Amino acid sequence: MFYPRIEVDLNKIKHNTSTLVNLCKKYKIKVAGVTKVFCADTEIAKAYVEGGVDYLADSRIENLIKLKEFKIPKILLRLPMISEVEKVVEYADISLNSEVDTIKALSKASKGKGVTHKIILMYDLGDLREGYFKEEDLFEAIEEILKLEGIEIIGLGTNLTCYGGVIPRGENLGRLVNLANKIEKEYNINLDIISGGNSSTLHLLINDKKIDGINHLRLGESIVLGRETAFGNRIENTYDDAFQLAAEIIEIKDKPSVPIGEIGMDAFGKTPTFVDRGVRKRIICAIGKQDIDFDSLIPLDDGIEILGGSSDHLILDGTDSKVDYKVGDEIRFKLTYGGILRAMTSAYVKKVIK
Ligand SMILES: *Cc1c(COP(=O)(O)O)cnc(C)c1O
Repeated sequence: MFYPRIEVDLNKIKHNTSTLVNLCKKYKIKVAGVTKVFCADTEIAKAYVEGGVDYLADSRIENLIKLKEFKIPKILLRLPMISEVEKVVEYADISLNSEVDTIKALSKASKGKGVTHKIILMYDLGDLREGYFKEEDLFEAIEEILKLEGIEIIGLGTNLTCYGGVIPRGENLGRLVNLANKIEKEYNINLDIISGGNSSTLHLLINDKKIDGINHLRLGESIVLGRETAFGNRIENTYDDAFQLAAEIIEIKDKPSVPIGEIGMDAFGKTPTFVDRGVRKRIICAIGKQDIDFDSLIPLDDGIEILGGSSDHLILDGTDSKVDYKVGDEIRFKLTYGGILRAMTSAYVKKVIK
């Protein structure tokens, strides 16, 4: 057995996917399964596809290249870099865009390859990450884009609860839908996709607040962790432990809770403070900040408390646990979204997908 490792339960991922695909289907919404948190591992992506997603989506073109064998359309989520347009038109069927210069470069690349690249134009409803902000700028851009060869505008999209934490509501999403209708009339084009955001938009469906006109969502966190991200509520009939981290115990000793001697800086340049709780049972695991952010760990044993650690060591308090841990045993954790991202990206964490 190799530690530390992250274990992924494909049946749980498939189950979560079909729960969310069915919820969205009720509202005639298609789902793009977002694969970036697990670096587009193809086995996990396959569980998405078996669970019924209509598209696969990722922010990085390297990840979409890994997914090239899947037959369903692939979406590049991060605005393309001009330096990567050749790869974008080859490996992404659709990309999200908000810059005419980039779209011109995509046009040139797709013309060169004799293909048509589809784009979804992004409109910012106030979260202040990507997308056109002023209607007149969007209209002006569309006029230029319609003149380009090898490019087809197939939709309008938005992104919320990312930078600004803005909650999707009928009001802001309604503005997106109205804008899409206006564009269709003004330019006599069909916008097949109205993409109403990410896992944060799900709270509207869960509470049966239907948003007419939105027919597409891009879901990552809700599938991998079974929660909506506007308020962080768990979603019924999903698992929150499809991804689990296991670390091996390398030391168990009773020690005081306050260090002995003059306190200076810790390994990361911060001056630590301590509460005296007497002698406690301290457990050290062989995992550190190079593998994981300690804030992202949720011990499965609720008698375990995370004290801290350094690059390669995680220090736990096991005094209140009912388990009689021994050196060489493993301690298991659920993870936050950031934790899954970091562990899946770390070369030191073994991936066990089953
Ligand atoms: C990451 C991402 C998503 C998915 O967000 P979740 O909160 O994980 O559902 C959707 N859209 C864009 C543009 C993204 O970058």
